[in-house]
Amino acid sequence: MMRIENISFSYNAGPVISNLSAEIRAGEFVGIIGPNGSGKSTLLKLMSKILSPSSGAMSMGGRDLKEISLERYARQVAYMPSDTEVCFSFNVREFITMGRFPHAGRYAGLGKKDLHIINMAARNLGIEHLSEKRMEELSQGEKQMVFLAQAIIQQPRLLLLDEPTSHLDIGHTYRIMDSILKLNSEDLTVVAVLHDLNLASEYCKRLILLKDGKILRHGSPQEVITYQNIENSYMTRVLVYKNPFSGKPHVFGIPSSLRK
Ligand code: ADP
Ligand code: MG
Repeated sequence: MMRIENISFSYNAGPVISNLSAEIRAGEFVGIIGPNGSGKSTLLKLMSKILSPSSGAMSMGGRDLKEISLERYARQVAYMPSDTEVCFSFNVREFITMGRFPHAGRYAGLGKKDLHIINMAARNLGIEHLSEKRMEELSQGEKQMVFLAQAIIQQPRLLLLDEPTSHLDIGHTYRIMDSILKLNSEDLTVVAVLHDLNLASEYCKRLILLKDGKILRHGSPQEVITYQNIENSYMTRVLVYKNPFSGKPHVFGIPSSLRK
């Protein structure tokens, strides 16, 4: 699906991504984890074509990303940012509907199929009741679900999510992750930045652990979420135990007063 070869990127000072290579295969559910400032959002923006690498190459389906027009790219790749602020005053329905523009065209109007896709996404995410509200009236968590709906109705082949559940309660978090997992099982490739290590462990088949713009480890949750890897990258003491129900590694933090 996507190949990233030896890319580097800097905003203005030092490198934020350095000599990073990775491959995303079709149908995967990949989680990107790593401490604050390690370059997770930057990597996702590079994958979404918002930013371009200063060196190295990125390709999708064998084609260099630079050669794919933004319009064409938007029909295949949807990106949900972590910062869900909206500059203009849209209501929820108008905002979600914009996700269809890469397919329907800005002024062509929406067909029956488009409306069906929009209604289904709103129903599946449980946000139908918000459709007449204005975006600025929503809570952070509601806004996240609306942004996710907009990304999903784009019907991409690759879905890029930057901390999609950071403002959601545990009930909404697991419902939303279940919806994303269901789409993944129906052939959608997903790459998600997740700050919650246990959530990443439960849902992602493969994890990429970033530190200082480089991949420190990648592999299955069992390979990546070890106390050594987490302590080395996040600079804190942790315990890692198996979730007795799923068998996946779970991370427990330890307050310094209890550390020996
Ligand atoms: P993460 O998502 O892992 O927290 P980011 O990719 O957002 O990390 O940031 C990586 C580094 O790049 C940080 O040091 C951050 O301060 C810097 N950075 C992020 N965005 C910008 C920007 N727009 N301009 C300058 N520096 C930035
Ligand atoms: Mg980030």
